[in-house]
Amino acid sequence: MLLYNTLGRELREFMPIEAGRVGFYGCGPTVYNYAHIGNLRAYVTHDILARTLRARGFDVKHVMNITDVGHLTGDNDEGDDKMLKSAEERGRDVLEIADFYTKAFFADTDRLNIVRPTIVCKATEHIDDMIALIRRIEANGYTYSAGGNLYFDITKFSNYGKMAMFRLDEQTSETRVDADGNKRNPRDFVLWFTKSKYENQALVWDSPWGRGYPGWHIECSAMSMKYLGEQFDIHAGGIDHIAIHHTNEIAQSEAATGKTPCVKNWVHNEFLVLDRGKMSKSTGGFLTLQTLVDRGYDPLDYRYFLLGAHYRSQLQFSFEALDGAKNARRSLCDRVRALWNKERKGEMDGAAPYLEKFNAAMDSDLSTPRALAELFGLLKDAEKDEIAPSAALTAISQMDEILGLNIKLSAESEETAGASDSASMAEIRSIEERIAERATAKRAKDFVKADSIRAELKEKGIVVEDGPNGTIWRKLI
Ligand code: AMP
Ligand code: ZN
Repeated sequence: MLLYNTLGRELREFMPIEAGRVGFYGCGPTVYNYAHIGNLRAYVTHDILARTLRARGFDVKHVMNITDVGHLTGDNDEGDDKMLKSAEERGRDVLEIADFYTKAFFADTDRLNIVRPTIVCKATEHIDDMIALIRRIEANGYTYSAGGNLYFDITKFSNYGKMAMFRLDEQTSETRVDADGNKRNPRDFVLWFTKSKYENQALVWDSPWGRGYPGWHIECSAMSMKYLGEQFDIHAGGIDHIAIHHTNEIAQSEAATGKTPCVKNWVHNEFLVLDRGKMSKSTGGFLTLQTLVDRGYDPLDYRYFLLGAHYRSQLQFSFEALDGAKNARRSLCDRVRALWNKERKGEMDGAAPYLEKFNAAMDSDLSTPRALAELFGLLKDAEKDEIAPSAALTAISQMDEILGLNIKLSAESEETAGASDSASMAEIRSIEERIAERATAKRAKDFVKADSIRAELKEKGIVVEDGPNGTIWRKLI
């Protein structure tokens, strides 16, 4: 199986450290808001990778962290504490917020038919492991204290930036006037904060460096090592993590253990972008899976849409493109249903070459678009009586073990899905009418009416938020 490794920028034959077993860590969500559909692209990618490895017979231990402390709005230690800011805005406790959005996250991944990780670990439950790891890094001479915080000194780590492939004398966007003045180098990063701009910093722990909280990067080094060992097979995340988060993880882990590489294969998915630009959880202008469901799509339409692109290609989201995916997935299910009822004509072993080509596509750096094309090729030949329907259906269900489109189940329930769509479309229209009335009231400065419409929708479990890109609404799960 060929897998692209960001470390070295090359396609490489995947060879686990221990025969038959794969240790796989995928960076999980920061649970201060719903996951947006871009984040969900990352988790579908992890799922496809884990499913493919399992289909090849590997025993995969998949670990995912939940970031419930330490992640600031700037990945480079700048800006606000994401969790705290969200809790303040919503008038809730930080851990309540974390719990709510963790549940919402798994409700989304379940609906996308993403297999749950083997281990899910929360940052706040691993503070001792982080402190122990920081002590090792400190004992090996890679740290300094300044302004109350403990920093990682990147000049002490000779290979710093080997994955991002930048040079240390390059100017960085972090060299800004508002950057942390305690840093000796703008790329140094915090291991432990005791100084917070928030007086009411909710979550703090005692540590050898004072009462405070961990930096964001250390959690992934500490938890991946705890569950997968000091060197493991695969680490995945979105491409935004290459330059800072994963670069810093490599520095921390290897500085602590002296073992290199800490991770053999780094897998990074490209971004999902909106036609109007970047999608971001922190600016509020983003789409959730529930938004798609509220507009009448099945979550698996979105999964199908994602599989239509290779994970290392940037993918532009639009509702027109999602409509295309919806139609293609539903036609696939219709055709599979028709195949069940077909006469038993055709070659019994005619499906094998398609299955082989499908597997070859998946083994070629998870080429889902090619794999889907093989599935459709098989379907077409079975429809022409060249392949026996039963052989084709068996091969399709094997393909679906990896694609995770629930083809058989969806084919069985297709009629009912259509009926519930029209019901939800009527509901959506009525919500959107009320939101339009609220916008008119706001423009006329009739805030009493605007607030009463918002309250009425809230009663029905609809949350209305005004963001920089207009008003968005979603149904609470
Ligand atoms: P976060 O919850 O912000 O820590 O991000 C969760 C995951 O989503 C990370 O692996 C990110 O790299 C990834 N990610 C963030 N934005 C996008 C996007 N627009 N498209 C694809 N992946 C993304
Ligand atoms: Zn991480």
